[in-house]
Amino acid sequence: MSDASIVVLLVEDNPADAYLTRRVLSELDMLSTRVEVVDRIANARTRLAEGGVDLVVLDLSLPDGQGVETFRRIRESAPTLPVIVLSGLEDEAVALEAVRWGAQDYLVKGRFNGQLLGRSVRYALERQKLQSQLFAAALEDEMTGLYNRRGFQTLAADDLKRARRHRNPIVLAFGDLDGLKSINDTFGHLEGDRAICDAASILRATFREADLVARIGGDEFAVLLRDASDCPDRARSRLQGHLDEHNRLSGRSYGLSISLGFVRHAMTDDLTLEALLSAADKAMYDVKHSRRSAARTPA
Ligand code: GH3
Ligand code: MG
Repeated sequence: MSDASIVVLLVEDNPADAYLTRRVLSELDMLSTRVEVVDRIANARTRLAEGGVDLVVLDLSLPDGQGVETFRRIRESAPTLPVIVLSGLEDEAVALEAVRWGAQDYLVKGRFNGQLLGRSVRYALERQKLQSQLFAAALEDEMTGLYNRRGFQTLAADDLKRARRHRNPIVLAFGDLDGLKSINDTFGHLEGDRAICDAASILRATFREADLVARIGGDEFAVLLRDASDCPDRARSRLQGHLDEHNRLSGRSYGLSISLGFVRHAMTDDLTLEALLSAADKAMYDVKHSRRSAARTPA
């Protein structure tokens, strides 16, 4: 989004108010805007679903919704977009309530000019940008740049909901670095950190762009596979290929190895993400255990 072309969705059913607000919005100082007007929540939601809107200016009193409920239904369609609420003089309290629910600002109809609205729009865009950055930072694992456990839980929750609704299966992988304690003990904690970062890059490269890859604990990784056609055997063989290449080229004094377990669950029940993760963890442990036994058994 650039200040040169801000797309504002004005949701206003009163033609005279829409005309005036649109004119003020179109003539803001130092901000070039393109204003689109819709007159109902339903139409706003359709437009928001298409994407490309930077800011919503919302009359709270519409033919298909009143008060804070109007704001909440718009927010449902566009959880990260800044919304400035417009209210009549008599329902300022309702507008304030919308701000408590997450609206960036409210303005009283007939009481704002270009300067006031311009400032409100600029603040709303800036504040929203900062909030998005803070939100993203809270979901990211600083060391590897992958999602952290909270990020995984937050983003996977939507996938789970969708899978339940459409009765689609969910496929999760759980990865754990082999022998990190020994890397730490032999080469130091910093080298252990490097091994975790290498493992993170290798897992990122192993799975598809759309898959959700996260570091959910010290040397533990979780992956939500979003392409049902990808199968565990293929993912495991891609992983082994990447590990072999890394171990050949990295110049480290130790080889990197990751155990990977999978769980595939038809979402016909209410199994939680934590239960799925725990099943994938168990599958990983079985893989680790059998590899260890195989390594101990003389050929
Ligand atoms: P296994 O092969 O069974 O997976 O054993 P492991 O040595 O990898 O140890 P395990 O997975 O049971 O436990 C992970 C260890 O990794 C515990 C802790 O000492 C170490 N660890 C956890 N977080 C970090 C970290 O951020 N940096 C480093 N360097 N080490 C960590
Ligand atoms: Mg480990």
